[in-house]
Amino acid sequence: MNEWYSVVKLYTGPPQGFEAWLWDTLEIPQCILSIASYEPSAAQPNGYFTCDYHGCHKEYKSKQARNNHFDVAHLGAHQRCPDCGNILMNQNSLARHQRTHCLARRSDMHLLT
Ligand SMILES: [Zn+2]
Ligand SMILES: [Zn+2]
Repeated sequence: MNEWYSVVKLYTGPPQGFEAWLWDTLEIPQCILSIASYEPSAAQPNGYFTCDYHGCHKEYKSKQARNNHFDVAHLGAHQRCPDCGNILMNQNSLARHQRTHCLARRSDMHLLT
């Protein structure tokens, strides 16, 4: 796997395209799997669940809230394609998927034309 912090320096496009590019470049699905197998810490002594992401340390009252935060803030909220049901990693991926990869959309367009 590429080291993300060395890879990000290679990007030369516009800021809004960065995230989608990064996810492509790093082949995020594999990364997600390796992150998902990592078990975050359980409740703290004070009953709070702490985000273990490097440098974050946010605290939540429930494990679910902490996990939701982790997904959204650090992994990107997953988006489901309304046309074919594919899970995309974020809004950027979904938009690009619908433009270029979505088979359901393509066949729809065939039907329409
Ligand atoms: Zn966090
Ligand atoms: Zn789709």
